[in-house]
Amino acid sequence: MNGARVLVVAAHPDDEVLGCGATLAKWRSQGAEIQVAFLADGVAARGAADAGPAAQRRRAAARAASTALGLPPPWFGDFPDNRCDAVPLLEMAQAVEALVARFSPTTVLTHHHGDLNIDHQRVHQAAMTACRPQPGHTVRTLLFFEVPSSTEWQTPSPALAFVPQWHEDVGATLDRKLAALQAYAEELRPWPHPRSARAVEALARWRGAAVGCEAAEAFMLGRLVR
Ligand SMILES: [Zn+2]
Repeated sequence: MNGARVLVVAAHPDDEVLGCGATLAKWRSQGAEIQVAFLADGVAARGAADAGPAAQRRRAAARAASTALGLPPPWFGDFPDNRCDAVPLLEMAQAVEALVARFSPTTVLTHHHGDLNIDHQRVHQAAMTACRPQPGHTVRTLLFFEVPSSTEWQTPSPALAFVPQWHEDVGATLDRKLAALQAYAEELRPWPHPRSARAVEALARWRGAAVGCEAAEAFMLGRLVR
């Protein structure tokens, strides 16, 4: 991944660790430049009076997780949490376009279109719009990650199925993903919730076992230009 410029377009702080944290730690150690961007703040829809402090805690957790993965500080957007469907897609796409123009990524990682979470769906659409392969575009690889408690909770449908074609061997960096996950302790749930530390590790072990390695993160390939 030396020379690669990787942009992660995620809805909420924690999606990046859940979806591709071990891969980011691996690629960073191989020399990739990596920027993580969150479009929504991850707390506003909870309606709590402490939404402001909660958002600040979530941002602090995101910075701690980035440090644990060896990444620079993330970029934070402020689209409304769990209400991204109330925002014109054009506005979200323009926010991603601005990130693409500033960072010139060669690889973009974003959500799977079939996720149950509405913000994940909208962020996927915004990223796809911003990464249209027009002449001169920089994005050569487009990958979609899976997020436990959203991707597997989708409506059963072949069109929404997460069918990975790209498995990243993360046997050497799974520990760093699990350490980064601890920064988001507030977002984790007890086993057997899919967003428990045990389930997150189980998924990585299963994705690895499916392709004959100790641990893996799985992706759907959106586009590869070679
Ligand atoms: Zn999310």
